[in-house]
Amino acid sequence: MINCDKMTIDKINSQMSELMSQLYPICRSITGNGFRETLRILNNYIPLSVHEVPTGTAVYDWTVPKEWNIKDAYVKNSEGKRVIDFRESNLHVVGYSSHIQETVSLSELKQHLHTLPDHPDWIPYRTSYYKDDWGFCLSHNELMKLEDGFYEVFIDSTIQDGHLTYGEYYIKGKTSKEVLLSCHACHPSLCNDNISGLALVSMLGQYLSSLSLNYSYRIIIIPGTIGAITWLAQNESAVPNISHGLVVTCVGDPGKSTYKRSRIGNAEIDQAVEHVLKYSGNSYNIVDYSPYGYDERQYCSPGFNLPVGCLQRTPHGQYPEYHTSADNLDFVQMEYLSDSLLKYMSVINVLENNGCYLNTNPKCEPQLGKRGLYGLVGGQNDKVIDQMAILWVLNLSDGQHSLLDIADRAGMEFSLILDAADALIKKDLLIKHF
Ligand code: ZN
Repeated sequence: MINCDKMTIDKINSQMSELMSQLYPICRSITGNGFRETLRILNNYIPLSVHEVPTGTAVYDWTVPKEWNIKDAYVKNSEGKRVIDFRESNLHVVGYSSHIQETVSLSELKQHLHTLPDHPDWIPYRTSYYKDDWGFCLSHNELMKLEDGFYEVFIDSTIQDGHLTYGEYYIKGKTSKEVLLSCHACHPSLCNDNISGLALVSMLGQYLSSLSLNYSYRIIIIPGTIGAITWLAQNESAVPNISHGLVVTCVGDPGKSTYKRSRIGNAEIDQAVEHVLKYSGNSYNIVDYSPYGYDERQYCSPGFNLPVGCLQRTPHGQYPEYHTSADNLDFVQMEYLSDSLLKYMSVINVLENNGCYLNTNPKCEPQLGKRGLYGLVGGQNDKVIDQMAILWVLNLSDGQHSLLDIADRAGMEFSLILDAADALIKKDLLIKHF
């Protein structure tokens, strides 16, 4: 695992915390000004290029939808009091609700209300993207308080031709081979799903821009599902460069880290993440690919079959706060969010340094003693090179095994194998194969 000192972690945490508080109140959806405002704020942390794809654009089997925007919404009782108020929580309005101004009876109103009886204090999150409808969400306790009578229903929204917006940060490395980091940003006031991911990729973007990179990196901030489909349709020429990828979401809850493998299942990204989790010192879960979840569904569709997994904490739907008002700023804790960030940084460190090498002295063991490589020796910076790591690297560097393969086979952490490889390279006992 990458180590950061406490001061660095504290600084990163305060930046992520500030960013999340700025993003939390915004009413986001798959299109609209909330999404644009989100990108504008993120742009203060990482330089994003913003793309606007017009409504009606064909993207594979889908069509870019009309744009939804909302200014205000409420349900007022007969005394004119707002009993449901969009200004208090944007979760109160079903996403993509159409414009309405009507007076309706309580029984008619109830057909458009959503609650969570099992969690009577929480407001659920609901959307109606592709169906012309309207609705409100509220806590079950508030629903119980509504008295018989008539209510004024007002949703000041527009659904018009416009655009689907997405943001992209491309960081050029030595090669055009890319690592894709995909993050959805279409949820309103929900923190773990998806603001935690936005905070993480912003810090990861800053970290990447400070490094001398082998791979190029592409961070995309997109609406879920339709955004990934649109991005793939509009960027198909970039797809062959994607060598590894991760979908970033649900990274700040107290649950253990969970890695959902790519459809390929044993791609280098799968191997790298599993390796990092194994040596993280924390318990973790590995789950196989399934065609349900986040945007890995699109990247791993058979026409692409990209090596894209999802490194998260508790998977969607498996924590009660998921898609409710309880997924708030208190639910995401900096301790867990920064732990996720360090794991992402460690995965990148493995990808950046992995490679296949050739032992230049493959017939019998080279004599290590005369090269100062025998015993626990001090290499550069007096770093102690593990003797077993040296033997494993020499033995398996036949052009068929990457350093990560060697680390896994030796049962040693990647960094030990990497240090051994560096020491052997300096003594001309190892050369880069690919
Ligand atoms: Zn979600």
